[in-house]
Amino acid sequence: TVPVLTIDGPSGSGKGTISRAVAQQLGWHYLDSGALYRAVGVAAGWADLDLDDGGALVRCTFDTTIGFDEGGDELRVLVNGHDATDELRTETAGAAASAIAAIPEVRAALKDRQRAFRVAPGLVADGRDMGTVIFPDAGWKVFLTASAEERADRRYKQLKNKGVSVTMDGLLREILARDARDANRAVAPLRPAEDAVRIDTTGQGIEAVVERVLALLPA
Ligand code: C5P
Repeated sequence: TVPVLTIDGPSGSGKGTISRAVAQQLGWHYLDSGALYRAVGVAAGWADLDLDDGGALVRCTFDTTIGFDEGGDELRVLVNGHDATDELRTETAGAAASAIAAIPEVRAALKDRQRAFRVAPGLVADGRDMGTVIFPDAGWKVFLTASAEERADRRYKQLKNKGVSVTMDGLLREILARDARDANRAVAPLRPAEDAVRIDTTGQGIEAVVERVLALLPA
């Protein structure tokens, strides 16, 4: 079977950056599972759907096409054929994703789309439930954490780089609210897999964390 390394954790824990770097070093594929939930959130917004209308959101999940274009220097995400890369990164899309991600039928509908990324020579899967639900048989599982302040600070810098205007206070509040919802939902709540290696990335550079993750795999 194709090897899988799962990297789960809360928003801003460094999952995306670390996962991409590790995948690149290994020459493996990369799954940004959060992008799928964000894509459905954005599509729901375009269709003016109510975030309380579960039935409509489930239909929207089935109807939304999500494509990844790895051709350029940056991974672009196409939602229903439109490049939505920048819109996906906003905290509005994150909050919509988090609301939608609490619906069991939505999670079930996205299961196979995520498992389809398991293609040779290997996969690095980034998300909340990669090690617990989507790839429970993964060979290596990592759970990344960082203090809430540092996570908000990282998001702040990311968004500022993109020219998105946000305040640190607002961002911290939004991130804490999203984490609480992700941790407390009935289906696939955010928690480390029993066999996951936990790494606290607070105050650690990207390089150091990438090295620690790579050290888990056989040379
Ligand atoms: O990782 P990212 O911030 O892009 O994820 C956005 C939201 O999508 C999360 O807050 C979470 O609610 C949801 N999500 C999830 N399961 C995943 C990935 C993301 O529920 N595997």
